[in-house]
Amino acid sequence: MQDITDGVARFQRDVFPAKKELFAHLATHHTPDTLFISCSDARVVPELITGTEPGDLFVVRTAGNLVPAHTPGADGIAASIEYAVAALNVRDIIVCGHSACGAMTALAEGHDLTGAPAVASWLRHADSSLARTAADGDVPALVRENVLAQLANLATHPSVARALNEHKVALHGWVYDIPTGRIDDLTASDRATSDRTASNRTTSDRTASNLTPPDRAASDDRTSAAIAA
Ligand SMILES: [Zn+2]
Repeated sequence: MQDITDGVARFQRDVFPAKKELFAHLATHHTPDTLFISCSDARVVPELITGTEPGDLFVVRTAGNLVPAHTPGADGIAASIEYAVAALNVRDIIVCGHSACGAMTALAEGHDLTGAPAVASWLRHADSSLARTAADGDVPALVRENVLAQLANLATHPSVARALNEHKVALHGWVYDIPTGRIDDLTASDRATSDRTASNRTTSDRTASNLTPPDRAASDDRTSAAIAA
């Protein structure tokens, strides 16, 4: 805990003053461009690996970066997704899996989870991912299939389905490799295809294949829409 306390002191002494204007702006503006859904794994740090600043990413983290398909009823993950899409009007949603994922390893290798019943129950949301992975024990394959399966689950949420139908949001599936820092975009070819067919988009629409950090200049344009929502 001492490391954390020392870190807070360093933040207040060194980091905050250097970004004082940014934090002053953020005090009254919340206009993230991107909903970033990743595993809770401590080695995956969304802002670090995307080179983004405070205020850029709306982040949801779950074990195994799982996104349960939509069902009626209260659900914290669904509420966060809906808020990001319908109220904050994010333009991109990234589901980011990662190498050596403990959740995916437990599934791929059939670990005994009787001592962790909540984990066992939660990981059922990856049943379809597991079913589509041919080789038992192939963790990297399951990580990739799981990212794609969670994108499909995302699309079952009404707010996401509506935004997709109106071409207001693009879905992206990434896998982050911890030892190399590399990010594989599993949806790059799909997006290239959809970009070619989405000729009716306005020029202000972000292209789905854009992997660069969010365009900060565009943020303020959406402020009024976010407030209206
Ligand atoms: Zn993980």
